[in-house]
Amino acid sequence: MDVGGTSVRAGVVDARGAVLDTTRAPTPTGAQALEDAIVHAVEELAGRHDVAAVGLAVAGFVTADRRSVRFAPHLAWRGVPVADRVSARLGLPVVLEHDANAAALAEYRFGAARGAHVAVLVALGTGIGGALLVDGRVFRGAHGVAPELGHLRLVPDGRPCPCGKRGCWERYCSGTALAATAVELLAEYPAASTVLGREAAGDPRAVTGRRVAGAARDGDPLAQRAMTDLARWLGEGLALVADVYDPEVVVIGGGVSESAPLFLDDARQHYASVVTGAGHRPLARIRTAQLGDDAGIVGAAALARDVAMDVVRNGRPR
Ligand SMILES: [Zn+2]
Repeated sequence: MDVGGTSVRAGVVDARGAVLDTTRAPTPTGAQALEDAIVHAVEELAGRHDVAAVGLAVAGFVTADRRSVRFAPHLAWRGVPVADRVSARLGLPVVLEHDANAAALAEYRFGAARGAHVAVLVALGTGIGGALLVDGRVFRGAHGVAPELGHLRLVPDGRPCPCGKRGCWERYCSGTALAATAVELLAEYPAASTVLGREAAGDPRAVTGRRVAGAARDGDPLAQRAMTDLARWLGEGLALVADVYDPEVVVIGGGVSESAPLFLDDARQHYASVVTGAGHRPLARIRTAQLGDDAGIVGAAALARDVAMDVVRNGRPR
């Protein structure tokens, strides 16, 4: 399952990572209602399929034992032992994982990072989600928080971020950033000269990341400049990521990656020109995610399968 701030999506996934059946519901606001929604979704799918175990990809911090959610900005859980509660109600093994980690695992097993010794996922959505896999194992840091890539500060005294800092990478490189850059650029263009300008004159809230990407695809010059700006900041941030982790593969995922043809070549070039030792070191392969929206579900299911196999072999989850 993919438990996000907007919707709770569940899928039945086979051993090869194929999604056989799905169901979805809007994310309820209360903690109990959220748990109920998860249980109901599993019960619905278990009525049609032989379900062995449940994996939950959660948009939030998960404890190192993958049993509890510490904190999730867009979900009602605060220090809740979600895995044990859901497991008790369903009578099935349940495992939790941070959604970016789950997506990275899915890409490692079935997608763009298959077999990579060191792989980094950079998911460009409302913000930036990051994950680091070393030989297919999630690197979590000492307290389960690493790697928090979106809040690396790229611009001292830059755009304010909800995290309390300024100039974080995701303020310049995400769907939200795309909209913010387009709104800044509007000041330079007569309102009627671009599609976005005309739309923003009617309602400034019409300028969303998705809309900017669509306008860039249609050739709108302002939107294309916003996209070029995003590409530059993506390259800039990837150079930092490469300096710290020296990855073999970087997978660009999240909703913004659907527009990769509009920015990825520029980002690669900028990355290659600013990374330390440019021209004298092997470069990471920068690829778009292959599993799209299903990555969280497929990764969570792969973890659930590992747990189910453990139960079969050892009689208890590890
Ligand atoms: Zn921040």
